[in-house]
Amino acid sequence: MYYFDPHIHMVSRVTDDYETLAKMGCIGVSEPAFWAGYDRGSAEGFRDYFRQLTEFEPTRASWYGIQHYTWLCINAKEAENVTLAREVIAMIPEFLDRPGVLGIGEIGLNKNSKNEATIFLEHLDLAAETDQQILIHTPHLEDKYQGTRMILDMLCHDRRIDRGRVCVDHVEEHTARMVIENGFWAGMTLYPVSKCTAERAVDLVEMYGPERFLVNSAGDWGPSRPTAVPDFILAMRRRGHPEQLIRRVVYENPLQFFRQSRNFAFTSPESRESAAH
Ligand SMILES: [Zn+2]
Repeated sequence: MYYFDPHIHMVSRVTDDYETLAKMGCIGVSEPAFWAGYDRGSAEGFRDYFRQLTEFEPTRASWYGIQHYTWLCINAKEAENVTLAREVIAMIPEFLDRPGVLGIGEIGLNKNSKNEATIFLEHLDLAAETDQQILIHTPHLEDKYQGTRMILDMLCHDRRIDRGRVCVDHVEEHTARMVIENGFWAGMTLYPVSKCTAERAVDLVEMYGPERFLVNSAGDWGPSRPTAVPDFILAMRRRGHPEQLIRRVVYENPLQFFRQSRNFAFTSPESRESAAH
């Protein structure tokens, strides 16, 4: 089955992972900007990172027939440095017209601090002024419920925001409902150590239906499995769900969400085949 991983940090992965993903049916990835594991020293560090995301990663993905897309921002952890964050936000528009840039993300909260909230709101301004889609990171474990509430409050108070163009990621059982019921897309991140498992993601689809759910691996520099979406496909099959439903969650939903971005120039494998005949 073809699938799309809508949240995976390929800069942290080796080229062999692209090959493995391609063999498992992955035909597209979207890569949000995130924390590198250390704080960058200047806005120039982000400029280089954005070049990597918009130049080299699409090239590396293309070697295996995978289409690579990206989202740009300064992550919540480094947003604690408000001066640096403002320099990065001022630079982002230089990159927004590059091929494959889908929007602003992953913005959000980490420790739910005042500075993080300030920079989150300034990212929302940027997205509204430049008509970009938004991808949102919600905090870890003990901070998740409160952080998700804070994020939804900020989004729902902003009349410029089209909720159907926003994905709130890393939802779990206690946060999925408020995200879906408020009209946002919800991302489920399948992670071996925290967040969600494949089985729990299947539970959530069974509870709320497939609409506006995305499933991703996060595939970053920590303990994570870049092949977590195929794990979800297998878990769905073992519960007896039809192929059509599985395909909707792992393929059609991401395309439906991303098509709202002007830089999403996706070619489906089916259309490539018909063009060749
Ligand atoms: Zn991420």
